[in-house]
Amino acid sequence: MDYYSSQINNLIEQFATLPGIGQKTAQRLAFHVLNMPEDNVKRLSEALIEARTNIHYCKECFTLTDQELCPICQDQARDHRTIMVVENTRDLAAYEKTGKYHGVYHVLHGAISPMLGIGPGDIRLKELMVRLEGDVDEVIVATNSSLEGETTAMYISKLIKPTGIKVTRIASGVPVGGDLEYIDEVTLLRALEGRTEL
Ligand code: ZN
Repeated sequence: MDYYSSQINNLIEQFATLPGIGQKTAQRLAFHVLNMPEDNVKRLSEALIEARTNIHYCKECFTLTDQELCPICQDQARDHRTIMVVENTRDLAAYEKTGKYHGVYHVLHGAISPMLGIGPGDIRLKELMVRLEGDVDEVIVATNSSLEGETTAMYISKLIKPTGIKVTRIASGVPVGGDLEYIDEVTLLRALEGRTEL
């Protein structure tokens, strides 16, 4: 890898650390950036730094936001007694796109995976239990239908059952192993409407 100067190599290596970006794509991106007008490169790098600096977890639902509370948690018109548990912010966005869910969310940032060594303490479960000390009628578990998502759903159900709060699971019309964000809105709505008590 000595055909390029060390700065170009560094740029390629930085791109290659991103998910789904192999060496070839990293090279293509690096050279693309080098050919971009300087102003555009500045805007791109500023957007990266600003997002990283200002975006953090909502203190209520743990989705990503640049405010203390995300717009959904701030919205008094939403049903704060219904909490949908999702694995990540992208899944939350998928349900928001349907425009038909009026409750609030709780973002776990992962799922339990004994194989990957991810336990209940590694996702935002403790924080969910704290929220359930308030007035909550229903927790809708909308984790993926992968092995990890199902394991997490079972764990959550066991955890919540003793509190007497209703726990439901979205219907399994969602393809097994399919990431929620890639599923169309109709399928998501059907999964939500067809939810069953755990
Ligand atoms: Zn929030």
